[in-house]
Amino acid sequence: MPEPQAISLMNPGAECRALEADLLSAFTRVIRSGEYILGKEVAEFEREFAQYCGVKHAVGVASGLAALQLALVAGGVGPGDEVITAANTYIGTVLAIRHAGATPVLADIDAETANLDPEQFERAITPRTRAVIPVHLYGQPADMQPIREVAARHGIWVLEDAAQAQGAADRGQRTGALGRAGCFSFYPTKNLGGIGDAGCVTTDDTRLAERVRSMRHSGRISQHEYAEIGYTERLDELQAAILRVKLPRLDAANDARRLRAAWYDQLLADLPLRRPFAAADSRHVYHVYVIQVEERDRLAEYLRQQRIGVGIHYPTPLHREPVFAEYPFARKQFSVAERRADKILSLPMYPQLPEADVQRVAQAIRDFFAR
Ligand SMILES: *Cc1c(COP(=O)(O)O)cnc(C)c1O
Repeated sequence: MPEPQAISLMNPGAECRALEADLLSAFTRVIRSGEYILGKEVAEFEREFAQYCGVKHAVGVASGLAALQLALVAGGVGPGDEVITAANTYIGTVLAIRHAGATPVLADIDAETANLDPEQFERAITPRTRAVIPVHLYGQPADMQPIREVAARHGIWVLEDAAQAQGAADRGQRTGALGRAGCFSFYPTKNLGGIGDAGCVTTDDTRLAERVRSMRHSGRISQHEYAEIGYTERLDELQAAILRVKLPRLDAANDARRLRAAWYDQLLADLPLRRPFAAADSRHVYHVYVIQVEERDRLAEYLRQQRIGVGIHYPTPLHREPVFAEYPFARKQFSVAERRADKILSLPMYPQLPEADVQRVAQAIRDFFAR
């Protein structure tokens, strides 16, 4: 029998190939402009993305990590402050808290939503807590209403980690507009991705936006005036021009992901596994499609043998991550995050994923259970 064709977990190249002519003309436009840092493309992208998210300001930066770090500092977080986030997030969220000089504090997640549990968040609050970072993991918005209520009651501000949720919405409002500020990564595999590293901070808070703007650019406030010890964390013109080609297609790309998720939902409905949570009043944009299954490692191996790309987002909850062994949270237990980490499996998901491939993945999972 011939080897089956490989199905990849993610495929940023498929979208770029489909848009190649437009991407090349954006490239040419930037090359010919002679202006490569903080020119017209970045300014226009910022205007377009702010409008898309429904906020006053978007500030382009060099990565998602830079967005989180600079937003925290611009929002007044620093040494001695604690910042709470979900135990199952990508490591970048916690790195950003550290790079801002603050102390990361983890809280457990809700078993159903896989996002920050508002009650666990409230329990993790101390007199030093300054901010909370709910993460819209997998493209599903965190349960923002109770999180905002708890935060307001304790005088804590809310920073969204929307790195996996460009274009998602909670009760009709887009991510990036659901807290005091929102942070995005445009890493190539994200729902809106560049062809390199890029990120963005969104906010209605003009002072916070201006401070991020200054900090990304050496702390500069005018040509030879520096307000603080800044960084070099700018979004570049080329990435901005690429993102401007892709932004008008983001809703359609997310709809294509949602359609593929609906195919999986239907094809996997009668199998002994848990399908992804999606709240009725939110728009899940399926950055990844995550199932939970008891025999996770054996199923993953079985699918890999059939040349089906699978992933785990993420295998190690952050309190078990060796790099954080000296942190107080390393001695704690986050039982929901721990239990989930052993069961989760991400299936192939990208807007151009052929329907026949979704069927082949579902059939392979069915065959696994029928052995
Ligand atoms: C990708 C990601 C980040 C970091 O983004 P980079 O651009 O890689 O720095 C942060 N948080 C989450 C949840 C992510 O998925």
